[in-house]
Amino acid sequence: MGNSIPSNFGFFKGVEKNFDKAAKYTRFSKGILEQIKACNSVLQVKFPVKIGENVEVIEAYRIQHSHHRTPCKGGIRYSMAVNQDEVMALAALMTYKCAIVNVPFGGAKGGIRIDPTKYSEYELEKITRRYTSELVKKNFIGPGVDVPAPDYGTGAREMAWIVDTYRSLHPNEVYSNACVTGKPVTQGGVRGRVEATGLGVFYGVREACKVEEDMQRLGMSVGIEGKRIIVQGLGNVGYHAAKFFQEAGAILVGLIEYEGAIYDENGLDLEAVVAHRASTGSILNFENAKSIKTSNEVLEYPCDILIPAALEAVINESNADKIQAKIIGEAANGPLTPEADEILNKKGVLVIPDIYLNAGGVTVSYFEWLKNLSNVRYGRLEKRFDENMYAEILNIIESMTDKKVSKIEKKILLRGPDEIDLVHSGLEDTMIGAYREVWDIWKGQEGVEDLRTAAFVCAINKVGVAYEELGIFP
Ligand code: GLU
Repeated sequence: MGNSIPSNFGFFKGVEKNFDKAAKYTRFSKGILEQIKACNSVLQVKFPVKIGENVEVIEAYRIQHSHHRTPCKGGIRYSMAVNQDEVMALAALMTYKCAIVNVPFGGAKGGIRIDPTKYSEYELEKITRRYTSELVKKNFIGPGVDVPAPDYGTGAREMAWIVDTYRSLHPNEVYSNACVTGKPVTQGGVRGRVEATGLGVFYGVREACKVEEDMQRLGMSVGIEGKRIIVQGLGNVGYHAAKFFQEAGAILVGLIEYEGAIYDENGLDLEAVVAHRASTGSILNFENAKSIKTSNEVLEYPCDILIPAALEAVINESNADKIQAKIIGEAANGPLTPEADEILNKKGVLVIPDIYLNAGGVTVSYFEWLKNLSNVRYGRLEKRFDENMYAEILNIIESMTDKKVSKIEKKILLRGPDEIDLVHSGLEDTMIGAYREVWDIWKGQEGVEDLRTAAFVCAINKVGVAYEELGIFP
């Protein structure tokens, strides 16, 4: 999938272009806009790690885009595509993302330029721990400074190594668990973080599909049920997004991975595909589906909703015009280049932008960070009430109002909320509220022609006000 990124693609410049397009619809001075846009701190390190008998020099980054709020927040990725430009762009997107969902962090991102599949678990642990120690030395990590999280090529395992290294180097710090999020639940993590980004993507697209006037314009029915979906990337985000869409009655017609793609207009069974891939090492040759070796070609196949959930710039000048989807949900960061964006907007495609749509991960990271800072557990401590009595109350509520009590509401009423209920409902509220806020700017503010511009206007307004209120030191 990675090799389709245009070689002249300037990711950070692309983010700046989107920013500039929106900035003219805000009231901030040139200086403040320049400050919002700029990356505040850039750390590049090169450190040695012993791999077998050899010493390897590893290149890594942590970039803090904005200090208008601290700590800074954002994932760490392990990939051969990592470079300063990419990490700067991703850090900037984190600033805007956090602002849109009202999570009080500045944006940051980290990356290690390695192919994680080329190393053993022990070697990855050494690389991760050494990287963490570099962050500690340079003061680029800490509960109130900068809080990493998982991203492409990393997960709970790496976060556990990070927290353990940090704790070893700060033995007296009480809240050291809050130095990183996305940890295993048994190590101060929060239930619901693993699926958070994918679930947020689902909530966001579902919200878009509820708007009658937009669906009418696209010639589509309201709702998710029956919509044909193609998902690119079966990693954590893509897999969970696909799962929630399928559970809601969407038809998963295409799946794209780096080894190839599969397409079946009658629908693919996600779990069966995952099992097939686990046993054969590839999604290709799955049951009755058509197998396509040139993966990215399937981005152009017929569908209603396309979910790129892998890497940046996969939809660019070369293929934008051939996309058949009516809705594109950017689960990945920066999957559309600004050129592609322009082409698709002209075609009337509804592009739901990354800085809103994939904010579910950092939203739940915020819950985890709060939990760690207060050293509490979320959710019920014991069964609260007699179930029969509650069943009775539920009947009365249902008979008195038109509102049907949902399964999750019922569970909460009956037993008190578990941690996962609190996390999922907090995430759902956040994604719904933010969609409405961005949509109102899109429809209500003259000149704002698309959802991405509206999302940037929303973010710039919030970061700009923070700068104004704080004033400038000294
Ligand atoms: N890596 C995720 C992102 O790009 C999550 C960041 C976080 O939880 O801090 O949004």
